Amino acid sequence: MNGPTQLFIGGRFRDAHSGGTFATVNPATEEILAHVAMADAADVDAAVRAARLAFNRESWRAMDARDRAKLLWKVGDLIRDNADELARTETLDNGKPISESLHVDLPFAAETFSYYAGWCTKIEGETIPVPGNFLNYTLREPYGVCGIITPWNFPLLMVAWKLAPALACGNTVVVKPAEDTPLTALRLAELCRQAGIPDGVVNVVPGFGETAGRALVAHPDVDKISFTGSTEVGKEIMRTAADTLKKVSLELGGKSPNIIFADADIDSAVDGAFNAIFYGKGEVCVAGSRLYVEEPVHDRVLGQLLARAEKLRPADPLEPGTRLGPLVSRTQMERVLGYIEAGRSEGARAVLPGGRVGTRGFYVAPAIFDAVDDSMRIAQEEIFGPVLSVLTFRDADDLVARANGTVYGLAAAVWTRDVGRAHRIARRLRAGTVWINAYLALSAESPFGGFGQSGFGRELGRQGTELYTQVKSVWVHLG
Ligand code: NAD
Repeated sequence: MNGPTQLFIGGRFRDAHSGGTFATVNPATEEILAHVAMADAADVDAAVRAARLAFNRESWRAMDARDRAKLLWKVGDLIRDNADELARTETLDNGKPISESLHVDLPFAAETFSYYAGWCTKIEGETIPVPGNFLNYTLREPYGVCGIITPWNFPLLMVAWKLAPALACGNTVVVKPAEDTPLTALRLAELCRQAGIPDGVVNVVPGFGETAGRALVAHPDVDKISFTGSTEVGKEIMRTAADTLKKVSLELGGKSPNIIFADADIDSAVDGAFNAIFYGKGEVCVAGSRLYVEEPVHDRVLGQLLARAEKLRPADPLEPGTRLGPLVSRTQMERVLGYIEAGRSEGARAVLPGGRVGTRGFYVAPAIFDAVDDSMRIAQEEIFGPVLSVLTFRDADDLVARANGTVYGLAAAVWTRDVGRAHRIARRLRAGTVWINAYLALSAESPFGGFGQSGFGRELGRQGTELYTQVKSVWVHLG
C-alpha cells in the first residue's frame, strides 16, 4: 500500500500521540494491508483544536463562496483523476468487487463534491414580513466543527456524502472513518490538501469507535455529529451527545421490503430483486432483504431468482468480472453465517443454502430463504450480507402493514404496472426512500435518509445543506 496511513491533523500527516497503530486487513486474503495510526482521545482533541482554529480563521470562514466552490470542484476532479487507484484501495480494504468501486463508489463520490460545489453560492437566507418598523432576515450559518463518523460498507462514498456538504456550508470537520476500512478517507484528505483546502479544515482520525469515535462525540468543542452506521451505535451516539447537546444526524440500518405484484414486469422485477440483495455483498443499508411476492407469481419469481443466484459465486474482488466479493471482516462473516443458521433453525426453507466458501478470505455464498414468516429473526433483523428472505402476500392492505412491520424505515420498493396502486402504496410505506419499478436508484441531487429507527436528517440534495447549517434571525430597527 502506497497511500497515507497516519492521522491527518492540521494539514499534515502524523503518528498517533501514543504511537499506537492497528492493522487493516484485506478480506479476500486475510493478509494485513497496512498498519494505520490509531487515534485516541488526545489525538481527537488535537484534531478538534485544529478544526476550531481553522473555523475561526478568515481563510475559511470568510472565503468567498465562489472560491470555496472552486476548491470543492477541484476535489471532485482529483477523485476522478485518481479513480483507478482509489477504487483499487477500496476493493482491497473492503472486498467489494472492483467493478462496483470503479463504476459506482468513485463516480458517485466525485459527483457529490461537484454537486455541492454548486451549492456554495446558493446557501441563502430569507427576508420575512414581520410586524412593526423592522427589517427581519435570516442567515444560514455553518455549525462550526462537525464530527463525521462513517461505516465500512461504502468507505469513501459515506465520507463524501458528509464532507462535501459540510465544507460547502463553511464548516470544518474531523472525520472518524470505520476501523475496518480507513484507507480511502486518508487518501481523500491528501486530495483535499492538494486541491488547496486550507490546513485544519479537514482532519481525519482513524481509530476505534469506543475510543476515537466516542471521544469525538463527547468532545465539548464539536458542534455537530453526522453519523452513518448501525442503529445500536446510533442510539449510543445520541446518549453521549446529550451531555453537550450536540446537533446529531443519523443514517442507520434497514430491513427494506421489496414488493412484487403479480402484474409487474417480472423479468425487471427479478433483476431488481437480485441486485437489491446481492449488490455490494448485501452489505448495503438499503438492501432489499425482505422480498414480498404476490402469491400467483411466487413460483415464477423464485424460480428465476434462484436460477440467477445459483450462478453467483463469490470470487476475487479485483477481477473485473466478479460480482460478489468477500464480506468485509471475519466478524461480519460470522454474523451473516449465524443468521443463515437462524433462518434454518426457525423453520424457513433454505432454497439456496449459502455458507462459507473456502477457508481463506471471508467469502460467503448467497442464501435464499423461502416460506419466511414476518416474525422470524431473518425477517426482522438487519443481516447485512447476501441473505434474502422471501415472503408471500395476497392482500394489499395486509401487505403494507407487514412491510411496515419492523423498527426500521430506510427504503422500500414496489413493482407493478398499475400506476395508481404504485403511488398509493408508496404513500403508505414507512420509508425514507421508495422506488417504483426500480431499486437502488440514488443520486447526489435527491435526499436520502430514514424513518423510524433508520435515523433522522436527510443527506444529499438541498436537504444536505440544511443538515450542516443553522438559521440565525437578524432584526433591524428601521428608525
Ligand atoms: P457501526 O455502527 O458498528 O460503526 C460505524 C462507525 O461508528 C464506525 O466508524 C465505528 O468506529 C463508529 N463507532 C462505533 N461505536 C462508536 C461509539 N460508541 N461512539 C462513536 N462512534 C462509534 O456500523 P458498521 O458495522 O461500520 O456499519 C454497518 C451499519 O451501518 C449497518 O447497520 C448499516 O445499515 C449502516 N449503514 C447505514 C447507512 C445509511 O445511510 N442509513 C449507510 C451505510 C451503512
